[in-house]
Amino acid sequence: MRAGGKHNDLENVGKTARHHTFFEMLGNFSFGDYFKKEAIDFAWEFVTEIVALPPDQLWITVFRDDPESALLWEKKIPKERIVKMGEKDNFWQMGETGPCGPCSEIHFDQGPRMSCGKPDCRVGCDCDRYLEIWNLVFMQFNRNSKGELLPLPKPSIDTGMGLERISAVCQGVWSNYDSDLFAPLIRRIENIAHVSYGKNPSIDMSIRVIADHIRSMTFLISDGILPSNEGRGYVLRRIMRRAARHGKFLGLSEPFLFELSGAVIEKAKQVYPELEFNQSRIRQIIQGEEERFIHTLDLGMKLIEELFLRMKEENKKEIPADALFKLYDTYGFPLDLLEDIARDEGYELDKKGFELEMGNQKARARAASRFGGPDSGVVPLYKEILNEHGKTKFLGYDTLRAKSLLIGLVKGTERVKKGSAGEEVFALFKETPFYGEGGGQAGDRGILSGEETRAEVLDTFKPLPDLFVHRIKILQGELIENQSCLLEVDEKLRMDTARNHTATHLLHAALRERLGDHVRQAGSFVGPARLRFDFNHFLPMTRKELDHVERVINERVLKNASVSRRVMGIDEALKQGALAFFGDKYGDEVRVIQIEAFSQELCGGTHCHSTGEIGLFKIISESSVAAGVRRIEALTGEGAYDFIKSEESQLIQMAESLKAKTADAPQKLDKLLSSLKEKEKEISALKSKPVASKPDGGTEIKKIAGASVLIRQMGSLEPKELRLALDGYKKEPGADLILLGSSVEDKVFFIVSVSPSKIKQFHAGELVRELSILVDGTGGGKPEMAQGGGKSPEKLADALLQAEQLIQKLSKIDFK
Ligand code: ATP
Ligand code: MG
Repeated sequence: MRAGGKHNDLENVGKTARHHTFFEMLGNFSFGDYFKKEAIDFAWEFVTEIVALPPDQLWITVFRDDPESALLWEKKIPKERIVKMGEKDNFWQMGETGPCGPCSEIHFDQGPRMSCGKPDCRVGCDCDRYLEIWNLVFMQFNRNSKGELLPLPKPSIDTGMGLERISAVCQGVWSNYDSDLFAPLIRRIENIAHVSYGKNPSIDMSIRVIADHIRSMTFLISDGILPSNEGRGYVLRRIMRRAARHGKFLGLSEPFLFELSGAVIEKAKQVYPELEFNQSRIRQIIQGEEERFIHTLDLGMKLIEELFLRMKEENKKEIPADALFKLYDTYGFPLDLLEDIARDEGYELDKKGFELEMGNQKARARAASRFGGPDSGVVPLYKEILNEHGKTKFLGYDTLRAKSLLIGLVKGTERVKKGSAGEEVFALFKETPFYGEGGGQAGDRGILSGEETRAEVLDTFKPLPDLFVHRIKILQGELIENQSCLLEVDEKLRMDTARNHTATHLLHAALRERLGDHVRQAGSFVGPARLRFDFNHFLPMTRKELDHVERVINERVLKNASVSRRVMGIDEALKQGALAFFGDKYGDEVRVIQIEAFSQELCGGTHCHSTGEIGLFKIISESSVAAGVRRIEALTGEGAYDFIKSEESQLIQMAESLKAKTADAPQKLDKLLSSLKEKEKEISALKSKPVASKPDGGTEIKKIAGASVLIRQMGSLEPKELRLALDGYKKEPGADLILLGSSVEDKVFFIVSVSPSKIKQFHAGELVRELSILVDGTGGGKPEMAQGGGKSPEKLADALLQAEQLIQKLSKIDFK
C-alpha cells in the first residue's frame, strides 16, 4: 500500500465525490516477472471475486494502440464495455524519455443516478457516474531522445487502486465522503460548524473540502513538511488556507482545523502510529498557520472585495499590477493567497507587471537605505560606472592586500573626480580584496593608501551585483580618479568574520541533524563580532537540544576538519546535495563550501581553511523572530572566550558574596532562598497575630451607643495582614464593632467590621469613609466590613481617638 496525493487535483477536490488531495493507493507490481495477461487476470479475480463487484457494472478502458490488452479483456467482459482511449488517459509515461507504456483502467458504473445527465456521458466523462477504481500500467517501452519507442527488455507492471474509491463502492455508497473513511470526519465538522451535510450543495462542498484537506495536512505535517512559500511546503500552505477559507464559509471565524486533526489521527493511528507520536506538533503547526491566516484574511478581505467589485464594474478580468502591489506592499497581503482567492472568483493577476513594480521598489529601497533619501538617484550613477568599467574583480578569496586603480568616486549623490582629507566618499576600484556585504556576511573594513593618501575603509557593499563600493573616510591627502592605491583588508576583522561564517555552516548542519530536515536557513547575519542564524522550526529549542548542537559543533572544531571551496556548475552542486536557498538567484557557476561530509552549502562568503580556526563556539541566545522562525545568536573565537570569562567572573563574584566555592554556590543559594521564604512566612504570621493584650479583660472594649466596640492601633501591618488580624479578633466573642488601624511608611490603613446583629445600627463602610477623611484618604465598603486609609500616618492616633465620637454620631439608633 502506498499513501500518495495529487495536488493538481486540488481544485477538483470537494466538487467531485472521488478526488482527494490525500488518498491511499493499493497496488501490485511486477519487475520483469508477470505481464499483461496475469495482471489482467489478477485484477479481474480481485474485483469480481474478492471484492465481489457485479461484473455487469464494470467497464474497461484500454489504450487505442494496445490490441493485446483489448483481446485479453474480451475473454472476460463483453466487447461493448471495453472502451479504447487516447494517450491522455491511457498511456503512462514519467517524462519526455524513459520507461512508458499503455494502461488499462477498471471503471465501476454507479448508475444513471450519478450521471451528469449530458447526452455524451460515458466512460471517461468528468462526472462521477463511471468511477475509475483501478489503473493497470503496462510498462513496456523505453522512449529514447528521438522519441522512438523501443521495447523494454523486462516489461513491468505497476497498478494503482484508490482505497477511498474501492471502500465507497464496497460499502454501497456513491461518494467517498459517505464511506466509513470520511463519515466520522464529516460528523465532527457538522458538530463544530453547526451545519448538516446533505442539505445545501455549497455547504456540502465546503464540508468535503475541509474533510479532505484536514487529512492531507495532518499527514504532510506528520511527515515533516511545514507550511512555507516554496515547493511542497507551499502545497501544504495552499491546502491549509483553502480549508480555512471553507471554514469561514461555514461561519467558523476561529481556528478549528487544529482540533479536527485529532479526528484524523484517531481514525488512522492504528495503521500510521507516527501520527499519534507527532500529534502535538501537528496541532501546533496547524493552529499557528490558522491564526496567522485568519489575521491576514481579516486584514485584506475588505480591500479585496472592494477590488473585485471595481473589477466587475469595469468588466475587467485581470487585476492590475498597481492594485496588487498596493495590497502586497502597503497592506502586507500575500500575493499567492490573493491568487488563490482571485482564481476561485475567476480573475487573473498581472504578475509580470507586479514583478516589475517589485524590482523598482527594491532598487529604491536599496538606494534609500544607503544614502538617506529615497530616490536619491545614485543607482544610475553606479550603473554608469559599471557600464564604463565593467564588474569589479574580487580578489579577496585569495589575498587581503592588493594594488588597484581608482575608477570612480561618488560624493553624496554626485560623481566627483577627487576627494580630500576629512571627507567621506564612496570609492570604486578595478579590483579589490574587500568583501562586499552579501549573503548575510558583513562587508570588509580596512585601510587604503596612496603615495600621500591615507583613508579608512568603513564598509564595503554592492549596490549592483558584482560592483563593489567602498565607503571611506579620507584621513590624509587627496584621492583622485585613476590613482593607484594599496587596499588592505583588516585581517583580524576578516578572520573573526570567517570564524563566524564557517560556524554558521556548522550550525546549520548541526540543527538539521538534530531537529530534522525541515530546518532551513531563513536568514543570517555574519559579522566579526557575532553571528545570527534564523531558521524554520516551530518550537522553541530545549536546553538539551541547544547543548547538543553546541557540543557537536565544538567537536567539529576540535577535529580541525578542512573547509574546502570549489566552483562548479549549479546542477552538479545541487546533485551533490549542497544546500541552496530557494529565494536566492544563482548563476550557472556556483561556489560550494564543504566541511567534510558534514556540511555542503552554496556560498560566496569568506571562510576559515579548517574548522580549528573557529577556536570555540558558544550559543548565547535562542529566540523567536516570527511564527515558525527561530533565531540563534552565537559567538566564536575570542568573542566566545570573552563571553565565557565574563560569565565565569560573575559566578565567582556571586560565590564570594555567598561565601561558598563556585561549585557549591547554586546549592547554597537555593538554601538561602528557601530559608528566606520561610522567614517571610513567619514574619507575616507574627505580625498579624492579635497581640498579647487581647480583648479578653475587656480593657479595650468600650460601650458606645449601646454596643461593645474594640478600637486598636496595630503596628506596621499591610492591608492583608490587617485582615488576618481582624479575623483573629473576630474569633474572640465580645465586640460588636471592631476598628483596627495601622500605618506602613507613609500610608495609613483601616479595617472595620460590624457583627451581623448590629448592622442595622452601624455601617462599617460609612465609618471607614469618615475615618479615611481624617487621614487624608478615602475608603468605604459594605455595612458589615470595610477597608480604607490615607496618606498621613501622623494623623492616625488622633483619628482613632476621634473614632468614638464618630461611631456615636453615625449610630442609627439613639440610645441616649
Ligand atoms: P481520475 O481520472 O478519476 O482523476 P486518474 O486517472 O487521475 O483518476 P490514476 O493516476 O490512474 O488516476 O491513479 C490510480 C488510481 O488512484 C485511480 O484509479 C484511483 O482509484 C486513484 N486516484 C487517482 N487520483 C485520485 C484522487 N485525486 N483521489 C482519490 N483517488 C485517486
Ligand atoms: Mg487513470
